[in-house]
Amino acid sequence: MDYYSRQISKLMEELASLPGIGSKSAQRLAFHILNMPIQQVESLSATIIEARRKVKYCRKCYTLTDEDVCPICRNTKRDHRTIMVVENTRDLAAYEKTNKYEGVYHVLHGAISPMLGIGPNDIKLKELMQRLCEDIDEVIIATNSSLEGETTAMYISKLIKPTGIKVSRIASGVPVGGDLEYIDEMTLYRALEGRTEL
Ligand code: ZN
Repeated sequence: MDYYSRQISKLMEELASLPGIGSKSAQRLAFHILNMPIQQVESLSATIIEARRKVKYCRKCYTLTDEDVCPICRNTKRDHRTIMVVENTRDLAAYEKTNKYEGVYHVLHGAISPMLGIGPNDIKLKELMQRLCEDIDEVIIATNSSLEGETTAMYISKLIKPTGIKVSRIASGVPVGGDLEYIDEMTLYRALEGRTEL
């Protein structure tokens, strides 16, 4: 990147540090930004800063939201006695897109991975267990079918079993190692319908 001035190189480096952006895409984006009207660039950067500052965890389900309690948790028409446990907010959005799930969620923000040194205390698991003190009928574990997702599902089911609350796992129609967000809505719906009790 020596052919460019320091400011351009810096912009490219920052962009290339984002996930999924290689050096070629970073270069393309940098030149695109440099050609944008200044107002548009200011609006883009202000939006990024504002989102980062204002978005926080929902007090109940820990999804990302700019409100104290997210719209799903606030919705009285939803079934608050059924909790679906997902790894992240993107997975929650994938299930919401099916329009078939009427319960609420709990977002773990990760999965247990001994290899990466991520333990039960590094995800929002304590927070899930606290929620189970309320009247809950069922916990549906919808972590990914990766090794980490399965390990997490097993761990959670062992924790919940003694409480007598029904624990189920979404069906394995979801391809192994598949990220939930890339799976089509019908497959997700079938996985939810075909869930089995653990
Ligand atoms: Zn919420």
